[in-house]
Amino acid sequence: MPLILATTAPGEPEIFASLQGEGPSAGQPCAFVRLSGCNLACQWCDTAYTWRFAGDNRPHRDDAHYDRAANQATLAEADVATRIAALAQPRLVVTGGEPLLQGAALARLLAALPGMAVEVETNGTVAPHAALDPLVGQYNVSPKLAHSGNPAPLALVAERMAAWAADPRAWFKFVIARAEDVEEVLQLQEACAIPAERIYLMPEGRDSASLRTRAAWLAPLCLRHGFRLSDRLHIHLYGDERGT
Ligand code: SF4
Repeated sequence: MPLILATTAPGEPEIFASLQGEGPSAGQPCAFVRLSGCNLACQWCDTAYTWRFAGDNRPHRDDAHYDRAANQATLAEADVATRIAALAQPRLVVTGGEPLLQGAALARLLAALPGMAVEVETNGTVAPHAALDPLVGQYNVSPKLAHSGNPAPLALVAERMAAWAADPRAWFKFVIARAEDVEEVLQLQEACAIPAERIYLMPEGRDSASLRTRAAWLAPLCLRHGFRLSDRLHIHLYGDERGT
C-alpha cells in the first residue's frame, strides 16, 4: 500500500520545510509530511481537511466538508522519500491526521531516509507498527481531552496511555482551552503515571491573539505543576495555513 497524504492544493502533497512550531523540537528546521486520515474527530481540529470528507457529519466548529479527491494524494513511498530528501533538512516531522494509521507504509518511507532524525505526531490511540517503532526517535503524543468532543473510550485508550508514559521518547502535549482541561490533565497524569517533565500544556487557538491570551493563564499553572508550556510558533509566523 502506498502512502495517503494530505494536500496543499489538489494533487499537491503536503510535504514542506518549516520550523517545528510545537513541543520539544520547537524552532528546529524540519521537513514535514502530513498524512491524511484520522480515527478521531476533534471539534476544533485545524486540519479537518485530513478527515472530514463528504458524508462525515461528526461535529466540527467550521462544519465544513472536504472533497476527498482534492484533499488526498496517494504516492509511492519512494516518491515521498525523494521529495523529502530534496528539502535537505536534518529532521523529519510526520504529522496528520493520525500518521500511525499508516504504520507499515510509514516504516517503508523511513527506511528509505536513513540518517534522518524522525519525530511522529500522534493522538496517542494507535500502537506504532513493529517495523516503524525502531525508526522513530521522538513521539509527540497529543491525547484528546473532553473538550475535543471525542468519546473518552476512543480518545483516551488506557493501555496506550500507559505505554507512552513508559516510553522516554514520548512527550505529551495537551491542547488546553479552559481551566477544566488542566484538571483533566492532572487526573490523567496520576492515572497513567506520566512524568511531569514530559508534559506540555499548549493553548488551543488558530490565531496569535488567542494563543497569547491562553498562554498567559497557562504559564503559572505550568510553574505550579512542573509542566512545560508549548507555543504554536507556526501560527504566529504564518497564520493558520496549509504547508506551514
Ligand atoms: S486527532 Fe488531530 S488530526 Fe485527528 S481530529 Fe483531532 S486534532 Fe484533528
